[in-house]
Amino acid sequence: VRHLVVVLGDQLDADSTAFNGFDPARDLVLQMEVIEETSYIPQHRKRIAYFLASMRHFRDELIARGRRVHYVHIDEQDNTGRFETEIARAQRRFRPSRTIVVEPGDWRVAEKLRRLPQMPEIRSDSHFLCSREEFAAFAAQHHRPVLETFYRAMRRKTGLLMDIAGRPVGGAWNFDAENRKSFGRTSPSIPPRPACPPDAITTEVLRLVAARFADSPGKLDGFDLPVTRTQALAQLDAFVAERLPRFGDYQDAMRSGEAFLYHSVLSGPLNLHQLRPLEVVQAALQNTTVPLNALEGFTRQIIGWREFVRGIYWQRMPHYAEANTLDAELPMPKFYWTGETDMRCLAEAIGHTIDYAYAHHIERLMVLGLFAMLLGVRPYDVHRWHMSMFWDAVDWVSLPNTLGMSQHGDGGIVGTKPYAASGNYIHRMSDHCRHCRFDPKKSIGEDACPFTTLYWNFLDKHRKRFVANVRMKNQYANLARKDAGELRTIRRQAAGIAEAVT
Ligand code: FAD
Ligand code: SF4
Repeated sequence: VRHLVVVLGDQLDADSTAFNGFDPARDLVLQMEVIEETSYIPQHRKRIAYFLASMRHFRDELIARGRRVHYVHIDEQDNTGRFETEIARAQRRFRPSRTIVVEPGDWRVAEKLRRLPQMPEIRSDSHFLCSREEFAAFAAQHHRPVLETFYRAMRRKTGLLMDIAGRPVGGAWNFDAENRKSFGRTSPSIPPRPACPPDAITTEVLRLVAARFADSPGKLDGFDLPVTRTQALAQLDAFVAERLPRFGDYQDAMRSGEAFLYHSVLSGPLNLHQLRPLEVVQAALQNTTVPLNALEGFTRQIIGWREFVRGIYWQRMPHYAEANTLDAELPMPKFYWTGETDMRCLAEAIGHTIDYAYAHHIERLMVLGLFAMLLGVRPYDVHRWHMSMFWDAVDWVSLPNTLGMSQHGDGGIVGTKPYAASGNYIHRMSDHCRHCRFDPKKSIGEDACPFTTLYWNFLDKHRKRFVANVRMKNQYANLARKDAGELRTIRRQAAGIAEAVT
């Protein structure tokens, strides 16, 4: 064998840089299912099945393109269970003159490769629109890199949603103010996503996961995730035609019994590189009937947030993972694994997670993440829970979003202020409070909403740190209206909540 081309589980792109100069006659692809990747953190069974089924389908796609693949199955007797030992084993067996791999998304995996006795050639990852080097240059130019500046630079660089004079289409960079509608008392009609019924390969994987990962969290039944590029493209087409037009308006809305609403549900195929970010945004821009607030909002998530958090991750690791600016030390509440809580909003969001390995952004940020931050849970533990429970979770995207954006553990690198809110926010954006035994307006008493109690307690507890933050001026002005007696009672009630749930 001339080149051994290693393809990791989240690098399923047949046109990636790993295949530059690939010679089918002399080169060999190595794909590995290793137990360590399914067990270093407990994992949702749908997530394990999604990765394995996608990898096996990708193997067949490569073979159909005439490339030779050495595929190591998880239950093979000689499988050593770790990337580094499997690569070394393949190097001993096939004696390649060179081993090639695209730079891994995870810092942990990159470290493993760095320590291999026979170092591979690491190729840069062309999946992303902003390379690590470009982001480093951007960060060096800005004292405090923020999403908005980065996003504008990405719009200019790609020309997406820019007019010929180099100005943003519609005269503004951002239409967020139009993207905060809730459903009120109306019942939205939501077009269903195209079905992805398991074929023979996926069915075999589902059997394997059911037998081997019986103790892992999450429901396996009803598996319906896109496991090939073709299926992912069909999901993209349906999203663009049917749900994107209302994506902007209802981007932040929540609704009982509805996990997906008008979201794209494309983070999995994007993170496994079955879809490319540019093609996804270009597909969206082709639907000329979509309002600008939806197009801009969707574009910002993909060329803005997604690239920005990756840049921060690679710029800040490994220290980033240890950040805990707010000294939050509580463990994750146990009900996050079961959904057994009287708090309707949390029961609903955790239920979606258990059923589908999915919750949309606002459920992740303003329900699941918000409660953990207000309570004072260790940020890395919140990240670990996210890694366990979501189909799309990979370290480079989960860590900055969870530890940074949702827990403010990084002290303001990803977001300039904590996403702190009371139950009133959830009441405004969902129908959950109407079905809940708590009252979002109350912070004291038997029926006080735990979010609201913990919100005032959070502002009070971190007064020194945030009182001078101009973006939190109104929040602190409202806190100032509370007298000492009320604050004492809130503190006592907040301590009681923490004791009851952890
Ligand atoms: P849509 O709402 O349809 O958005 C379109 C696409 O934009 C997504 O598919 C995704 O690729 C991208 N995107 C949107 N927001 C972000 C963001 N903040 N960061 C990066 N990309 C974004 N996303 C993951 O892919 N993996 C994770 O592990 C993950 N963990 C998260 C944890 C927390 C606490 C929070 C607040 C967010 C997290 N996100 C994560 C970001 C975002 O919530 C998901 O990408 C999104 O909910 C996926 O659903 P969707 O495909 O329907 O997204
Ligand atoms: Fe959630 Fe509070 Fe509303 Fe209940 S009242 S659903 S706990 S925000």
